[in-house]
Amino acid sequence: MPYKSRSKSTELQILKTLNTRMSLSNKDKQHYFNLKKGYEGEVIFDLLTEKLQSECFILNDLLLKLNNTIFQIDSLIINSEAIYLFEVKNFEGDYYYESDRLYKKPKTEINNPLNQLIRNESLLRQLLQNLGFTIPIYSSVVFINPEFTLYQTPLNKPFIFPTQVNRYLEKLNTIPSKLNRKHKRLADKLISLHIKDSPFKLLPPYDYDQLQKGLPCVKCTSFTISIEGKKCVCKECGHEEIVATAVMRNVKEFKLLFPNRKITTNVIHEWCKEVKSKKRIRTILKKNFKIVGVHQWSFYEEETNQ
Ligand SMILES: [Zn+2]
Repeated sequence: MPYKSRSKSTELQILKTLNTRMSLSNKDKQHYFNLKKGYEGEVIFDLLTEKLQSECFILNDLLLKLNNTIFQIDSLIINSEAIYLFEVKNFEGDYYYESDRLYKKPKTEINNPLNQLIRNESLLRQLLQNLGFTIPIYSSVVFINPEFTLYQTPLNKPFIFPTQVNRYLEKLNTIPSKLNRKHKRLADKLISLHIKDSPFKLLPPYDYDQLQKGLPCVKCTSFTISIEGKKCVCKECGHEEIVATAVMRNVKEFKLLFPNRKITTNVIHEWCKEVKSKKRIRTILKKNFKIVGVHQWSFYEEETNQ
């Protein structure tokens, strides 16, 4: 079990919703697919590190700040000997390495992940120093996609290739490790410094009016659903979802897209327009509002004038 688990970034969640409800430019679409792919690769790596049996703290996805520099760590493992820092890349296809640069074949230069790794390691080391911890850091770039090939890789680069990930982790697993209070303090400290919502989001401008209203199918994102009793049924793929679940899922999306707008029956009735009855929307909101308490739904307001 990771000591800190990974969740989808707000940026990725918003882009996913926007991609369903409006037509994104090719550039934004590409950015969305890159984020999505990166996230999927990280999750695959998480599933592997989760299997480690030796005593360690696994911290997935940390966004940290040193002075005024924000840096992101995909995955970090603390055992009693060291900190292992991983930059996970889900690149797919044929790439080659030349003069410390990385190219996708035939000849597109992409950012060399080593530069990011070196920067992250340096920032982390300084941060640890400031916090009074001295522990060695070993960092590596993990290429997680089995369809990835890197030609001309020098032997001395800290790369872990898809064919090496399992062996690397098995080796890590055999290192004797006994965690103590100091390690826990370090792990807790890093988690407490984690910035939950990245200030850097690359999002296209969007406004309420331009977005498609309705309940998209949770499985295939089609808007052609029909409401049959308690269920929404997708006419495209046949997937069924409980109406109340679908509405609350879309309320969450609405909140994500428009954090400053109030959640009211009228607003959600329009947003989830397949649900024809306003009363039904009000019942769903009221019920969930009660369950999760005032804090999370501080924007929910009951309308009295209807
Ligand atoms: Zn569907």
